[in-house]
Amino acid sequence: VSNPELRADRRICVCVRKRPLNQQETSMQDLDIITIPSDHVVMVHESKQKVDLTRYLENQTFCFDHAFDDTASNELVYKFTAQPLVESIFRKGMATCFAYGQTGSGKTHTMGGALSGKAQNCSTGMYALVAQDVFRKLKTSAYEQLDLKVYGAFFEIYGGKVYDLLNWKKQLQVLEDGHQQVQVVGLQEKEACSVEDLLSLVALGSSCRTSGQTSVNAHSSRSHAVFQIILKSRGTLHGKFSLVDLAGNERGADTAKANRKRQLEGAEINKSLLALKECIRALGQNKSHTPFRSSKLTQVLRDSFIGQNSSTCMIATISPGRSSCENTLNTLRYANRVKEL
Ligand code: ADP
Ligand code: MG
Repeated sequence: VSNPELRADRRICVCVRKRPLNQQETSMQDLDIITIPSDHVVMVHESKQKVDLTRYLENQTFCFDHAFDDTASNELVYKFTAQPLVESIFRKGMATCFAYGQTGSGKTHTMGGALSGKAQNCSTGMYALVAQDVFRKLKTSAYEQLDLKVYGAFFEIYGGKVYDLLNWKKQLQVLEDGHQQVQVVGLQEKEACSVEDLLSLVALGSSCRTSGQTSVNAHSSRSHAVFQIILKSRGTLHGKFSLVDLAGNERGADTAKANRKRQLEGAEINKSLLALKECIRALGQNKSHTPFRSSKLTQVLRDSFIGQNSSTCMIATISPGRSSCENTLNTLRYANRVKEL
């Protein structure tokens, strides 16, 4: 088992998490085509057919900072992804953790979004685990003289527009001032005095996110949800941890048939995920130019992509079934491109 501390100096960490086959897949006799032969390796065993119709397995191998199989707990995933970044926000850093993958692959399960709107339903997952460590560290004497306060913000990006999940989905404007500072105007930042306070914000925002939707997944698969834990010292920003549950990366199989609205949504998601990849790569390569303006998602996360004190982790979630092979390969290829060289 590798040591998460070893990678603490790196600014990008890319991990993959495989979920178990679910009941529906099992009942359809879907096959598990993913193996995790070591802590860093993911293999896809794709069944293919030769011209003479004989079948063979095509094995593809991908390496990551960490690979988690379907027995890994949220705590274990946390230890190797978001946890090493928590310290940095106390040192005026900007940390970001993304969950990336196809709808149904486990992004919300990993992040800890509450689908029922009850705070206790999000007590495991990255939101809760980061919150616990933030309040634990806050109590240590090293940070006492900074007089830090904790705030939570929660918003959604849908169709290139920003909506405040802590304020009845009010649409918010994003402004860039002359000094290239980006501001989400009027975004609610609620003070939190405990882990429970932060989790009730998660629950409130999650229920606001899905209210009025016919299907929870139908909506969340097309929007990015950004939960932020903000540290302020005497009213001024000190550090920020952004936890991002990204829109599903699947390409609409029936794009031709889909209506215009769906097509535009799909194009918007594609654009933002491409922009995200480029911004993370720019961070890893210390490039002077970060193309954050290419999408609303990267624009609002601008301060997390620039500056010497920014660090990012990505948890790429994958479904194990043969029926998801194409999407899984797309996810693995994307995650592979994001990795620091
Ligand atoms: P996404 O947010 O990517 O669309 P979800 O997190 O909603 O996917 O997961 C889809 C379903 O699979 C949920 O019922 C969830 O509880 C289950 N699931 C996802 N990941 C895991 C996992 N690692 N272990 C067990 N169940 C999981
Ligand atoms: Mg989800």
